[in-house]
Amino acid sequence: MNRTMTDPFLPPQRLLLGPGPSPVAPEVLAALALPTIGHLDPAFIRLMDELKSMLQTVFDTTNDATFTVAGPGSVGMDACVLNLVEPGDKILVARNGVFGMRMTEVASRGGAQVVPVDVEWGKPVDPAAVDAALAADKDIKFVAFVHSETSTGVLSPAKEICAVAARHGAMVIMDAVTSLGGVPVHIDEWGVDAVYSGTQKCLSCPPGLSPVSFSPRAVEHIKNRKTKVLSWFLDVTQVMAYWTGAGARAYHHTAPINSLYGFHEALRRLLNEGLEASFARHRAAHLRLVDGMAKLGISFLVDEAYRLPQLNTVRIPEGINDAQVRSSLLHDYNIEIGAGLGPLAGKVWRIGLMGEGARSEHVDRLLRDLGLAIAAQRQMAPA
Ligand SMILES: *Cc1c(COP(=O)(O)O)cnc(C)c1O
Repeated sequence: MNRTMTDPFLPPQRLLLGPGPSPVAPEVLAALALPTIGHLDPAFIRLMDELKSMLQTVFDTTNDATFTVAGPGSVGMDACVLNLVEPGDKILVARNGVFGMRMTEVASRGGAQVVPVDVEWGKPVDPAAVDAALAADKDIKFVAFVHSETSTGVLSPAKEICAVAARHGAMVIMDAVTSLGGVPVHIDEWGVDAVYSGTQKCLSCPPGLSPVSFSPRAVEHIKNRKTKVLSWFLDVTQVMAYWTGAGARAYHHTAPINSLYGFHEALRRLLNEGLEASFARHRAAHLRLVDGMAKLGISFLVDEAYRLPQLNTVRIPEGINDAQVRSSLLHDYNIEIGAGLGPLAGKVWRIGLMGEGARSEHVDRLLRDLGLAIAAQRQMAPA
């Protein structure tokens, strides 16, 4: 270990099977390394237009206000919540894990009154509970929820939750960070008004961009706000002047040019594979993992009916040291998996089969090396 600060940094070759980031294809890494051009260069505007159109396909929407914000998924959360919500507004946040809790924090920092609808971690959001809360308080304007809760591995029934919100005239904000590319997402059909995602989960791109989409109704709502959006940078009406429209594009901020090259390549690869084929590949990798875990005697936390294929929460076997196994996987086998969060800390591992990670060879390698790491620990432990 005698490298110095000024030596080039060379990352180890890890297989990323945690809750994100996910493995990145060499083609995407190569696209990131292409020569930088200007953010108003006509060639770059063309790339943005293509990217927007590919994003519309992935979100299954015709929303004109579909683009990326510069920053990870959490910036998309800020953008969606802070553009729609004004101080004093009531927002229902359905919470069944870490990211629902984070939405509460974002909304309350924006001055909103949060009406929480809590579900036990490991269970999906219950549309009937959302319905009851909306019926009990007619002032609630927004319903926010996480489609794929990465902290627990649970898929919530988006279509049903959106239908309930529509019945009560509430607008919907949906977190699709872990959903996009891994499970079906239909923004227009479901009636989602604001949605955000991230590049480093099932889209297999490095972190740093958040795809977002706003319905025409949401854009109208933002234009008619009584107060200015708290964040200048995230004000959608201003960002749109750079991202959309047929005329000259106005400078808003310097886009992360090379990151967008990489994302363009990642989306191109996804659409060439086909969305349905990608969902099926995630499903197949998941089923292979289920099979292998059963052979290792390891069970799943989440009920099969609402289990996410791309994020698998498995119970740590009795007598096995959580941190030691994860450390052995990382250092001896170059595989990263995730720890449990909140009430699940020390109880579960979170195994991400996201994007490029959702391949049978990766599943097989993990099963073999996890088996070895567990066996090694059992041998060392006093009988
Ligand atoms: C990862 C994640 C986020 C946050 O994204 P960052 O890119 O880490 O900021 C938000 N919501 C969900 C469901 C996530 O999985």
